Amino acid sequence: MLKLRIGILSSCLLLCWCGSFGWAAQKWKKINSEYCEIYFLSYSELKKINSNVDVSSISLDFKKKIINSKIKTKSISEKVKRKFDIIFRKAEEILNMYPRGINVKIRIYLNQKQLNRVYRKMFKGENKALSFYIYKTNTIYISTEHISEGVLAHEMGHCIIDHYFVILPPRNVQEILAIYVDTHLKD
Ligand SMILES: [Zn+2]
Repeated sequence: MLKLRIGILSSCLLLCWCGSFGWAAQKWKKINSEYCEIYFLSYSELKKINSNVDVSSISLDFKKKIINSKIKTKSISEKVKRKFDIIFRKAEEILNMYPRGINVKIRIYLNQKQLNRVYRKMFKGENKALSFYIYKTNTIYISTEHISEGVLAHEMGHCIIDHYFVILPPRNVQEILAIYVDTHLKD
């Protein structure tokens, strides 16, 4: 969970959700990349998502290793899929953890207000996070308003950690590892 922060990241709550996903007034659209199922609410939103997620400072050598640069990606959905996969693979490399067969779902709400409403429905409490990952649904919950390569890397880190360990490390250790991912994304 990446907290709303003024310079400080505090520890994540271990989220355990046992209910059905109730909030969905709008129809989700979905695109699949190699590592992600990306749910968004409109194609104009997808444009914003594409401009908010920037992988230009991730090393070119790394990107060349994992993408075929000969294939030109013109459409917005192809660009978004490629960016999300680059971040996911980079998060795996930073952690040196490569759990098999992960396909993480990412639900991108319009704004923080919607995300907070979803959180309230799930947990009956106030959300203090920009985003959160739930193992049970294998889903990252996030909004266009606050999506960025760093926030995505952090939550993808949680997903990778949760799938790598048979016995999960303590919560604060999970959080330290996830913070390590977003702070080293551009190394
Ligand atoms: Zn976290």
